Amino acid sequence: MDTVKNLFGMIKSASHCVALTGAGVSTLSGIRDFRGKNGLYTDKSGIYERMFDIDNFEKDPSIYYNAARGFIYSLDAKDASVVHNTLGKLEAKGFLKAVITQNIDLLHQKGGSRKVIEVHGSPVVHYCLRCAGVRMPFEEVAEIVNSGGMPKCPHCASILKPAITFFGEALPIDAIREAGSEAGKADLMLVLGTSLTVHPAAGLPDATIRSGGKIVIVNDQNTHLDRYSAMRFSDLGAVFEELNDLLDRN
Ligand SMILES: [Zn+2]
Repeated sequence: MDTVKNLFGMIKSASHCVALTGAGVSTLSGIRDFRGKNGLYTDKSGIYERMFDIDNFEKDPSIYYNAARGFIYSLDAKDASVVHNTLGKLEAKGFLKAVITQNIDLLHQKGGSRKVIEVHGSPVVHYCLRCAGVRMPFEEVAEIVNSGGMPKCPHCASILKPAITFFGEALPIDAIREAGSEAGKADLMLVLGTSLTVHPAAGLPDATIRSGGKIVIVNDQNTHLDRYSAMRFSDLGAVFEELNDLLDRN
């Protein structure tokens, strides 16, 4: 039966359990997703659609920074959700080996996860597109951006770019390779809050299944892999509240 208790049993008996997470995990923390009904891409001004485009960034980086000010650089105000926190605890107790995420909000780190593979990059560092090796950490950039400025390269004065993968850029090759390797090693993959429509993440559960592993999908919308899901749940918040209770008691 598809009960959370049985799911917890599956997680505990797995030898290499990994999680793959999408926007649904972060909407629980009050972060707007991109493609959902009230997603950022429905904003009439179109700023959110233009912000992650590398051509736009090179022409005018303020397109990105103006849109990101009240969103990416105000993430400090957002708390990790029960999903982030429980995944962090599962890892600490040795039940979870890695979190592969499509999100760029750093909330898995906030929830205590240590091994986080960010397949769409991350704002955790900002770098100069021209000078190799110039890096600035998130906190420093956030301070500059939130007081109305943009982070500048100390050598060439170019505006620094976040290490988020923009449209028109290659995906972070190391993260993609690592995600593929984790998916292949996993005998259980928890697929959480993603409809599996965006590659490369969409193909990772297939890699687990092909290697003989199982997947469990928790998402409020259908996915193309639902019929291969060993258990299937829709309410992410409810499943993880219960999982968190079970974890605290065991
Ligand atoms: Zn530079």
